[in-house]
Amino acid sequence: MARSYTSKRAPIKDVNINFFLYVYRIMASFKLLCSKCKREYPIESKIWKCYCGNFLDISIHIEESTDYFEQVKSRIHTMWRYWELLPVSRKCLISIGEGWTPIIKKNYRNTVLLLKLEYLNPTGSFKDRGASTLISHLASIGIKDIVEDSSGNAGAAIAAYSAAAGIKCRIYVPEKAPHPKVLQIKSYGADVIQVSGDRAHVHNEALKAAEKSFYAGHLWSPFFIEGLKTIAYESFEQFGDVDSLIVPIGSGGLALGIYKGFRDLLEIGAIKQMPRIYGVQAEGFTTVYEILHPGYRGEKPSKILADGIAVPNPPRRYQIAYRLKETHGDIVVVNNREIIEALYRLARWGLFVEPTSATALAAFEKLKENNIIERGERILLPLTGFGLKAIDKISNLLG
Ligand SMILES: [Zn+2]
Repeated sequence: MARSYTSKRAPIKDVNINFFLYVYRIMASFKLLCSKCKREYPIESKIWKCYCGNFLDISIHIEESTDYFEQVKSRIHTMWRYWELLPVSRKCLISIGEGWTPIIKKNYRNTVLLLKLEYLNPTGSFKDRGASTLISHLASIGIKDIVEDSSGNAGAAIAAYSAAAGIKCRIYVPEKAPHPKVLQIKSYGADVIQVSGDRAHVHNEALKAAEKSFYAGHLWSPFFIEGLKTIAYESFEQFGDVDSLIVPIGSGGLALGIYKGFRDLLEIGAIKQMPRIYGVQAEGFTTVYEILHPGYRGEKPSKILADGIAVPNPPRRYQIAYRLKETHGDIVVVNNREIIEALYRLARWGLFVEPTSATALAAFEKLKENNIIERGERILLPLTGFGLKAIDKISNLLG
């Protein structure tokens, strides 16, 4: 049954009313757990990793209760319309309008592309969903001072939400981090520390500083990933089922978050099967591809266009590979030429994104050429970051 709603931000079609019928009765509870040593911790624990050194995940236990989600359809048009499914107290939400981004439907190469405009989030990238969840959590447990390491978009998002929460924020960035992104981070009032050397060295410097503060790294935080689940909820509410998704893989939080979101939808009975999730990595940064395709040795290009996914060794790389495989998805590796072609195609559709975001369309082209994506499929492509964030790179391309 189709039903329409009005919204200031998003055109909504083909809403599946069953979603609401199922979620009316939901209560959810959360805890922190380590998949390696199996330790469990209360959700409000002031820790960012397990005592064994491994990253933490958040488990959700969904219980059916009475008349619970009845008001979702009339709620605020931000990601916090789904607050019951997020591990943060509703009393302490740090929100500046994240989520409920539009989906543009595009018939292309005998498929239906669902382009979710994540670059319309407050700081210009999808990371606001993760930052809103993480900073809301940290504010709720009394953290006043944080440290994060980022090459750009996550740093901007953490800085913006810290400003909104009144939390002191230091962001460690690589010396060669994109200038527009560093400027954006500084504008929010965060201290920016530029570190020479590779990305691992930046991370280590941030950890040293965190000994007298609190490490809020998006590469590690399970709360950051939880916020990204809402992309799955929204896409379902806006357009119903999808057959597959294509997402850029940097830290992998986006793929893991969307995976968790669809798992929740499956658990509450809103969907009947998981969509296939394809990740995209750029040449030179293919650690997850190498896990799924042992023996691959790609070349590193001299210029890095997709800086947002230039993450050499994401801590959760094995978890990402496992999750993609579980959905019968895979990793697609794209090169700079393919990224530029996709960037221009999106721009000709009126969608100005940064090169990292264009990797999703570049990967679609490859999957279609290899007949992995079939005729008539509905494919969700989150367009992750706004083109103005990479204006220096794009102006070089234009000569
Ligand atoms: Zn552990």
